Amino acid sequence: MKAAVFDGNKIQYKEDINNPILKDNQVLIKVDSVGICGTDIAIVDGNLPVPVPIIPGHEFSGTIIDIDKNLDKNLQNDLLKTRVTSEINTNICGKCYFCLNKMPTHCIYRKALGIDINGALAEKIAINYSLIHHIPDDLSFEQATFIEPLAAAIQTFEIMPIKSEDKNITIFGLGKLGLLIFQVLKSMKLKNINIILVGKHKNRIKIAEKLGAKNIINYNEVENISDEIAKLTNEIGTDIAIDATGSAKALIEIIKSTRSRGKIHIKSTHGTLSPINVTDLVVREINIFTSRCGPFHKAIELINSGNISLEPLISKIFTLDKIVDAFKSAKSKDILKVIVKV
Ligand SMILES: [Zn+2]
Ligand SMILES: [Zn+2]
Repeated sequence: MKAAVFDGNKIQYKEDINNPILKDNQVLIKVDSVGICGTDIAIVDGNLPVPVPIIPGHEFSGTIIDIDKNLDKNLQNDLLKTRVTSEINTNICGKCYFCLNKMPTHCIYRKALGIDINGALAEKIAINYSLIHHIPDDLSFEQATFIEPLAAAIQTFEIMPIKSEDKNITIFGLGKLGLLIFQVLKSMKLKNINIILVGKHKNRIKIAEKLGAKNIINYNEVENISDEIAKLTNEIGTDIAIDATGSAKALIEIIKSTRSRGKIHIKSTHGTLSPINVTDLVVREINIFTSRCGPFHKAIELINSGNISLEPLISKIFTLDKIVDAFKSAKSKDILKVIVKV
């Protein structure tokens, strides 16, 4: 089959990759669309160690074309030819401490698609049927690649629920993740909440405005971010700061911008170590939260509610044979999301 393969050095388009073999309780999915994510870029840039060769890609959609014959007959009828996406965490054991305590995404045996095992930048992928989710009828395959990152955005507030004292919420970073978190926050329709966005790329700021953002600070146009945020928060600092920048430098500004006993939620992984001022965090009693994968069913519900706009986030579409160009484009700062059609 056709696939994009990372050999430890570079990503390449290949046509001679073995088809996946259907194992117990699995379905075979003909992949349609794959979103390129920061994690895929980190892999291809050598910033995230993976076993090689590997097929990257975990934000995907496709159609079920085959089903393990041992699965229940009714289930087989329900599944065949349906449009689906899949959870990223596979090989969940159901028995370890984390599985038994409702943290399956932390299962000690988990294998992440496209990171620990072959992912979706391929014609076909075999997935355990318990991990798949049906795609709503009116959602395109391209839009459906956002279900996984939207679930991750939702997880921000599952881990760190907004409390009545949280009036000023600042999102740093207007990439795909920041803009999804912004939309999730807006969809909650909370009263008396001041949402501040901080970004530095003009086209992303424009999209944020289109999505309804009112308070946007352009990082490149102000002397000092924390002073700007102080001005917008009665000189107190933001109650909640969400980091969707993936930048160590930004994290330093984020700490400065957060009020004492405020909360910082780090959403992006950082390619480098971050020299943060721990003493400042301790003295001002700032709480740090982090989160990763989220609930797919809530992401699908939220898309169905009509409160999330995905189309403005799609910047470019490539075919699989143009995978090198797709990655080059995904790294560009003008780009929000690159989709690969398989
Ligand atoms: Zn991702
Ligand atoms: Zn487990």
